[in-house]
Amino acid sequence: MTVAALIVAAGRGTRTGGLPKQYRMLGRGSVLARSVDVFQRHPGIGSITVVIHPDDAEHYHASLEPVAKLAPPVTGAATRQGSVRAGLEALSDIAPSHVLIHDAARPFLDAALIDRVLAGLTEAPGAVPGLLVTDTLKRATDDRVISGTVERAGLWHVQTPQGFAYAAILAAHRRAAADGRSDFTDDAAVMEWAGSAVKLVPGDAANAKLTTAEDLTMAEYRITADVRTGSGFDVHRFCDGDHVMLCGARVPHTHALEGHSDADVALHALTDALLGAIGDGDIGQHFPPSDQRWHGADSAIFLIEAARRVAARGGIVAHVDITIVCEAPRIGPHRDAMRARLASLLGIDPSRTSVKATTSEQLGFTGRREGIAAMATATVRLPIT
Ligand code: MG
Repeated sequence: MTVAALIVAAGRGTRTGGLPKQYRMLGRGSVLARSVDVFQRHPGIGSITVVIHPDDAEHYHASLEPVAKLAPPVTGAATRQGSVRAGLEALSDIAPSHVLIHDAARPFLDAALIDRVLAGLTEAPGAVPGLLVTDTLKRATDDRVISGTVERAGLWHVQTPQGFAYAAILAAHRRAAADGRSDFTDDAAVMEWAGSAVKLVPGDAANAKLTTAEDLTMAEYRITADVRTGSGFDVHRFCDGDHVMLCGARVPHTHALEGHSDADVALHALTDALLGAIGDGDIGQHFPPSDQRWHGADSAIFLIEAARRVAARGGIVAHVDITIVCEAPRIGPHRDAMRARLASLLGIDPSRTSVKATTSEQLGFTGRREGIAAMATATVRLPIT
């Protein structure tokens, strides 16, 4: 058995808006890259070909690292059926004994599912993963009034990858196209129409199709389920000046804060909190005060680098919370600007940021107005490894 994987990624994903969903990031790689990776690792798969939309060559190359089994992409057609046929025709040089046709919008397939489809192909020219329908099914009129209950016994949801004898599925697609049929929604339907047997093998509920924006969000949460928290603390003393930088906002004051950079004590604490959440050292290690490059630097640079390090791990910043300890200046009037600035630097919604302030009741160095202290907590979500 020689098996080629054909991944259909030619859809435009209009229901999720913007970048087609197969090219969206999901953990460390794109949605498409996850399927490619599973086929690449499976010893039973000899080659991988992706069918793409003619406008998506750039997205395709940006979202996939070249891997050993990956053949050049094939340009698809206006319908899914047409795209699959283009992909099948492109495989005629390799002429594998079998082909697994998979939708790029199902990034959660696994090796065990591929094994079951391959096993099914030893018994029939077609094998597709399916799950028994467990919900009650209703038929309804156009204005959503139920007109009947559908007998669900013997009904299955089918998924991909769908496996076929290559010569049989290619012939079936060619015949369907010659007959002017373009309305088949999966490849098993083309095989059935052509009169070939297709066997159901157990599917996998985890192998869901990502259709809506919510599906993508849920998929991201499923992948980045390893929640980590980091804390940070920093102090800077007052010196002569007329403003301080706090959370990237310029706050007029009777003094400035002394420091090698712009002395934004809040951003320094938060940078350490992010680095702490991913166990990646601290701000002094990545930005040594001895380095002249950081003299007078905008501390946003440090925070952006910490956020980049989180992203490089496939992580997302879920929430940040900062407490600023000082008798003055007053933080309240600047809170919204600070949250907006943090959100913008981290690329997250302002609702995922928090800035709080307290005095220390005139006790200690902050109470004596000698400087400002800041504490920060960062919550990040990392991919499960
Ligand atoms: Mg500092």
